[in-house]
Amino acid sequence: MAMQAEQPKFTTRTPVDFVVIGSGAAGGVMAKELSTAGFDVVVLEQGPYVTPDKFMHDEIGNSTKRGLGFTADGDPQSFRVSEDEKAEERRNLYYLRVVGGTSIHFTANYWRFHEVDFIERSLLGPIAGTGFADWPITYEELEPYYTKVDWEVGVSGAVGPTDSFRSRSYPMPPLPVKSSGVLFEKGAKKMGWHAFPAPMAILSEPFNGRPPCQHCGFCMSFGCEFSAKSSSLAAMIPVAEASGHCEIRPESTVARLETDDSGRVRDVVYFDRNGTEQAQRAKAVVLCANGAETPRLLLMSESNRFPDGLANSSGKVGKYLMGNGQVHVYGYYEHRLNDYKSVQVTRILHDFYNSDPSRGFYGGGGMDARFQFNPVSFALRGLPPDAPRWGSEYKKMVGEYFNRVVDVNGHTTVLPQESNNISLDPNLKDKYGRPGMRTTYKDHPDDMAVQEFFRERCEELVEASGALRMWNRSINTTTGHAHLLGTCRMGNDPGESVIDKFHRTHDVPNLFISDGSSFVSSGRGQPTMTIQALAFRAADHIIQFAKKGEI
Ligand SMILES: Cc1cc2nc3c(=O)[nH]c(=O)nc-3n(C[C@H](O)[C@H](O)[C@H](O)COP(=O)(O)OP(=O)(O)OC[C@H]3O[C@@H](n4cnc5c(N)ncnc54)[C@H](O)[C@@H]3O)c2cc1C
Ligand code: SF4
Repeated sequence: MAMQAEQPKFTTRTPVDFVVIGSGAAGGVMAKELSTAGFDVVVLEQGPYVTPDKFMHDEIGNSTKRGLGFTADGDPQSFRVSEDEKAEERRNLYYLRVVGGTSIHFTANYWRFHEVDFIERSLLGPIAGTGFADWPITYEELEPYYTKVDWEVGVSGAVGPTDSFRSRSYPMPPLPVKSSGVLFEKGAKKMGWHAFPAPMAILSEPFNGRPPCQHCGFCMSFGCEFSAKSSSLAAMIPVAEASGHCEIRPESTVARLETDDSGRVRDVVYFDRNGTEQAQRAKAVVLCANGAETPRLLLMSESNRFPDGLANSSGKVGKYLMGNGQVHVYGYYEHRLNDYKSVQVTRILHDFYNSDPSRGFYGGGGMDARFQFNPVSFALRGLPPDAPRWGSEYKKMVGEYFNRVVDVNGHTTVLPQESNNISLDPNLKDKYGRPGMRTTYKDHPDDMAVQEFFRERCEELVEASGALRMWNRSINTTTGHAHLLGTCRMGNDPGESVIDKFHRTHDVPNLFISDGSSFVSSGRGQPTMTIQALAFRAADHIIQFAKKGEI
């Protein structure tokens, strides 16, 4: 169970070995790996340290306040479709500001990438108008670190028929199948497809001193009060704290990185919980602030030496923003399903994972089944489009449908386009005077086509599973992202990428980046397993560099 352990207190004026910025999926791994290797680490996290005993099953409260919603009071964002437009102020980048980051309230689907994800450009050739590229690393190089995630973070599952090779089995069996999983399997079988147990970063058995899932049902968008969900707070931060080398400094909002005369990062400037400016001196910095905040920080850290932002000699910081497409098809069934209980997902399929040129567009993905609602959200959004919206008929339908609906999802690829990006909004300022984040984003036609393809497959599956009626959520252009990927891409060419294959920035030798921003391609929908495998791998190399005096 995550407890806030006694931590060392480092002074700001004495350089620590590493400052890690952000304590989310990647930052938690980085803090744990570096501190248990004996390095002194300060983790600067803008959000509060909320312990699991404070997590609540409060659907309305969670989506608004109390540290577990998306709200970021006093930090405005804006959105536009192209750079010719004035951006409209509105929230569109969804992540959680809290110790543990977005891993606290995520759904915890933990798909590995397949071998093909790393080499698709070589297999399929270029795609005009995009930055479609191979990764500078392969699945084989990352595989040992995927296994580390399974065994150190805690992933339950069973090997699927379409998985790439793995060196070790899962540390624990899959979670018990839910009604949605049974129906999904039935529909898939009828279609000749291959459903298999979902890999989830949720414990099915006691593991590393944490209890298994209690099937409470307040899972996605909620913190797990049992620490059965393998968030960074539950799985990584307690180990980092126990090392005696890691100080988690919550409510510390980093504003910029300052460099010395030789162009190395020296100070991390942040606002403490009282709004007072502080500067933590560091020998090296690892930026793990996610695919939105990491480019923002680099762009805010411009100087005479780095006029376009830190580590941005390529001009690629903030560019190639990607998320993942998500398609929803709903089925209504005869029997009560009780699917509001437990975790979201218990069965998936990857039969359409690979891109198939004969379809006429690039893209692939995976499918799963879930009940993506709690009582209030179901009453507001769960009924079919032609249902009454008020009165006794509406009430009757809410009562009847709540326990009989399954949401079959398609999760799809998104192409990297340089014109899709995060930049600093010239008109918006946050409460510290920092520029707000501006998103510029337009879907590639292939990203829409692959969603249409998956909508059709989801409909086929829902029908084959015996639903009495079916409806879908229309496929619209993207107006926001919860998967924040690609904005400081990894590559061998310093003119085309921000970090090298070891996560070191091409321009600043003691600055590393490890989070969703390093992605070269989007994968098929569940990026966090790969974010954490990359973080374990990056930490391994950073430790070796530090030990050899090569930072
Ligand atoms: C509702 C929801 C469900 C999701 N479900 C899944 C899923 O099932 N499977 C999956 O693979 N992914 C899922 N995701 C996405 C997943 O949560 C992210 O991919 C993952 O958490 C990203 O890891 P990260 O380390 O890059 O960033 P984060 O986990 O977002 O961590 C970044 C941290 O940095 C901190 N930070 C940022 N800027 C600063 C600053 N200036 N100073 C100090 N601290 C800062 C943030 O507060 C945050 O704590 C989901 C996301 C959401 C919102
Ligand atoms: S369903 Fe399980 S993992 Fe999810 S919050 Fe409840 S107890 Fe935790």
